[in-house]
Amino acid sequence: MSRPEGNVPVAGCAPCGRDVLTHVVADARGALERRCAHCDAPIDPDAVRWVDESALDALGYAIAPAGGGCGSGGCGTGGGCAR
Ligand SMILES: [Zn+2]
Repeated sequence: MSRPEGNVPVAGCAPCGRDVLTHVVADARGALERRCAHCDAPIDPDAVRWVDESALDALGYAIAPAGGGCGSGGCGTGGGCAR
């Protein structure tokens, strides 16, 4: 099977023990840092895989329909939105 190349960044998270959605935050110096969307653990950028939204079903995620807001990647709250 070929690896799908999509627009959703996922990576393995040690504290969560699974593949998780990731988001980007700015640290105190203004540098961008990628973190787990669930526990905010730092994610190695080299470990990020870009998958298609359809692949998230296999990871246990259900993506909200377009227009829902949190599925667009612009939600950086890290809580309450990654159902
Ligand atoms: Zn995590």
